[in-house]
Amino acid sequence: LSSIAARINLCSDLPFNSPSPSESNSFDDTLSLRKLNFDGHISFDELHHAAKDFGNRHRHYPLAILHPKSVSDISTVIKHVFQMGPTSALTVAARGHGHSLQGQAQALRGIVINMELLKKPEMHVHAGKQPYVEVSGGELWINILHETLRHGLAPKSWTDYLHLTVGGTLSNAGISGQAFKHGPQINNVHELEVVTGKGEVLNCSEKQNADLFYSALGGLGQFGIITRAKIALEPAPMKVKWIRVLYSDFSVFARDQEYLISSKHTFDYIEGFVIINRTGLINNWRSSFNPQHPLQASQFNSEGKTLYCLEMTKNINMDEAGTINQDVETLLSQLSFIPSTLFMSEVSYLEFLDRVHLSEIQLRSKGLWDVPHPWLNLLIPRTKIHDFNKEVFGNILTDTSNGPVLMYPLKKFKWDNRTSAVTPEEDIFYIVAFLSSAVPSWTGKNSLQHILAQQKRILDFCKKSNIGMKQYLPHYATQEEWKVHFGSRWETILRKKHAYDPLAILAPGQRIFQKAM
Ligand code: FAD
Repeated sequence: LSSIAARINLCSDLPFNSPSPSESNSFDDTLSLRKLNFDGHISFDELHHAAKDFGNRHRHYPLAILHPKSVSDISTVIKHVFQMGPTSALTVAARGHGHSLQGQAQALRGIVINMELLKKPEMHVHAGKQPYVEVSGGELWINILHETLRHGLAPKSWTDYLHLTVGGTLSNAGISGQAFKHGPQINNVHELEVVTGKGEVLNCSEKQNADLFYSALGGLGQFGIITRAKIALEPAPMKVKWIRVLYSDFSVFARDQEYLISSKHTFDYIEGFVIINRTGLINNWRSSFNPQHPLQASQFNSEGKTLYCLEMTKNINMDEAGTINQDVETLLSQLSFIPSTLFMSEVSYLEFLDRVHLSEIQLRSKGLWDVPHPWLNLLIPRTKIHDFNKEVFGNILTDTSNGPVLMYPLKKFKWDNRTSAVTPEEDIFYIVAFLSSAVPSWTGKNSLQHILAQQKRILDFCKKSNIGMKQYLPHYATQEEWKVHFGSRWETILRKKHAYDPLAILAPGQRIFQKAM
């Protein structure tokens, strides 16, 4: 394995993506790429779109963008780069919807593949006993939802935001409030088609090329480009009962959350978030939720407090519509939230799942969507979540005005340990997501630097207290950090990289491996 590591340069402390190819190499690379035949086309201008992402902090211009019309376009370009070997510095990054945070879908002077243009295979829903939908790796989840709903079906596991591609979320994990029940999205895939770093096009599943299948799932794009997926479906509910309640005591909040994710009879979606010192919180909710106790709710004051919101939904199926209220009441009666803070709403399944898009529209209209997003997503073992809560929400964060902070538990056994995704070593762990926006402030305070400094304190705390945290959507700058991230799996990662992408051509923006030159 050490020889594999030697052949594939490991990311070091060097600046991102260095060394960069010389201008003359780029000229040769351009010439050779122009000679290739594609069903789609390759372009060498209008490159700025591929040098941007949602994080809005890293900008690396590629040499070219491939606009594929077929899987063979993707295979052709990768084969070409592979055959050039170490004489060329060209790398290849699949770009889904570009909603990465730190340049993960970028390729400095490499080739970015615009996966959303890959429209083959056409989306096709297979009904039956074990329904599934077959989609292109560049398909957006929102489109999958629209199409499957027409058949009364929907995928089982989601992300909170649906304007992301299948290949993009399956390269990470795909986590939302359904994961406690169904596992992350990577656990709900029957089959993939993958183009490896040698340009081979392979079908893979639990039964066929299983090693590649599990490598690609949660594989940060390191082992191949996902060009097709079969995704498990279930009957879709008509509507959902959407509920929010508040807690002021973290222990009670965590106990109730853990109880709910462990019960057989429970909600269909369970998340939570932390709210610190937010004025007018409940008034904001009122536009979409009805308070159960309007008078008491109007007297509730969130100012100056640290509160924990438990958010749940219960699916409303046609045959259960009559009993749903009773069901929800029984479930709520087992919880110990602040009684005056019970808020409910009933919305269509589509409205619920696509809820973040509404915020996107509002933020866009105010010019607040395309700001830097220094996000930090951590997976914290259950036994350490109390210490984490005390330090982070007691000492480090003084308010949550920079953006939502999600916090909810997940069950490890719902994560297939054959995939490449990395989670903490405990039966239950929490995802804590700091979804900050660095909005220019009227005080002139540099909010990006302020947020990054807070995040550093959080990461330092995790390290110092040795809490066994793992990053989700991980981002590291050095080989040592990646090794620590993968832990005992590091050698397996090296083996797989050598098997499927031996020249380290793919997804250079993850900064795990650097192409050997
Ligand atoms: P990109 O940013 O385009 O790519 C991400 C990585 O995957 C890159 O390394 C890229 O090279 C690689 N990649 C892209 N396509 C493929 C492919 N077809 N095959 C192989 N590799 C590929 N995540 C959650 O789990 N849960 C959430 O609730 C959630 N909410 C989010 C909300 C917002 C507003 C945003 C911006 C992100 C959210 N995320 C969430 C994170 C999101 O899942 C990841 O950032 C995801 O990678 C974005 O998908 P994308 O299509 O934009 O991927």
